[in-house]
Amino acid sequence: MGKWRGWDKLVERSPWHQWLKSHFPSPYQVYAFTLRFRDPELERGFSRSFELNPLLLGRLALFVGALAYALFGLMEDVWIGSQQPFLWWLRFGVGIPIIALAFGLTFLPGIRRYTDWILAIVIQLIGLSLIAMIFTTQAADTRPYESVFYLLGLVLLLIFNFVGFRMRVWVAALSGSVVIANFVLVGLFWGYEEPYFTSMGSMYLLTAMVPLLFGTTISEFFARKHFVDSLNLEHQARTDVLTGLANRRAFMERLQQEYARYQRYGTPFAVALLDADYFKQVNDRYGHDAGDAALKALGRIMSEHCRETDLLGRLGGEEFGLLMSQTEGRCARQACERLRAGVAEQRFHLPDGKEIAMTISLGMSVVRRDDGGIDAVLKRADTAMYAAKSSGRNRVRMD
Ligand code: GH3
Ligand code: MG
Ligand code: MG
Repeated sequence: MGKWRGWDKLVERSPWHQWLKSHFPSPYQVYAFTLRFRDPELERGFSRSFELNPLLLGRLALFVGALAYALFGLMEDVWIGSQQPFLWWLRFGVGIPIIALAFGLTFLPGIRRYTDWILAIVIQLIGLSLIAMIFTTQAADTRPYESVFYLLGLVLLLIFNFVGFRMRVWVAALSGSVVIANFVLVGLFWGYEEPYFTSMGSMYLLTAMVPLLFGTTISEFFARKHFVDSLNLEHQARTDVLTGLANRRAFMERLQQEYARYQRYGTPFAVALLDADYFKQVNDRYGHDAGDAALKALGRIMSEHCRETDLLGRLGGEEFGLLMSQTEGRCARQACERLRAGVAEQRFHLPDGKEIAMTISLGMSVVRRDDGGIDAVLKRADTAMYAAKSSGRNRVRMD
């Protein structure tokens, strides 16, 4: 990635990137061009969740496109008559069967994931058939109204491009590059001076490129934004507003899962309940806002002393819970002791600049065979916590 850093820097300063950043803040950042999520895990989740959407749109594009293509062909047949049998064959013998085949392919489980690629190829074929039309009609003597059909052909390309919105941006970019390549090749072969080529070719180019890139970028943006918003909502429902830790609901859910795992695989776990000592005094002395700030700081300090695999949650008020996966006995006790000491050694800064000390009391319990559910584990931890309180606070008790 090193060699792209210069480009990255350049893009990062652009207003487009700043705008993207305001809509996809950390940790949901996207790349500026393809709009892919920088986090591969997130990208995988997004790809999974949006499989259906591009599939339906892709099929719709192919279906509508094939109908329009056929209609367009019939109209031309009626208006120009059998002057151009080659075009007739191109349309009904090659074009429509290919689109029908592409439509059919989107129903095959292994292939339907590539709907955006199929669309890109069909768009190219339509573009090529337009070029062929320009060529053959050029060879015959051209009548002014015939250009109406090229316009219709361009509209068809437009339909495909717009309905094919759910193409990924990089597929669209590739498809667009091929369109440009076609344009250049035809120009080299035919001569750019040809006025017919310049007018029709430029329109072909614009019709293919503008909606293709604009459309896919916009639809990609909204799809990803929607995905991030739904993740955020889910995150909010599981997060404690004050401390940013897991809330009671999230904590209990994880505990329940952990218990299920214990029943199935026998992997033990320990739970600790943590309660701030004499917290009422903080509120009484410094005010409720200062108390809130102290709780927030307490949550942050405690999570710094937890392991990655532990879950710390705020269960309510000045009471917290700690779930330690695959931990029991001495290790769990040591972890609790580390937490207790970490808090006791810390000085907490209140918003008005004052410094205070805080301590916590912890009650811990390890899951047992005869527990029958998380309530029994929690009840033991609660009893242990009260024992820690009544034996002097700022200590760990185990039950
Ligand atoms: P103990 O050592 O026995 O736990 O004493 P304590 O004062 O911490 O215990 P108690 O349960 O009597 O009081 C808890 C206090 O915590 C009550 C309330 O004022 C305060 N508290 C609970 N939730 C919040 C909160 O969200 N913000 C603030 N600022 N204070 C809270
Ligand atoms: Mg308390
Ligand atoms: Mg309490």
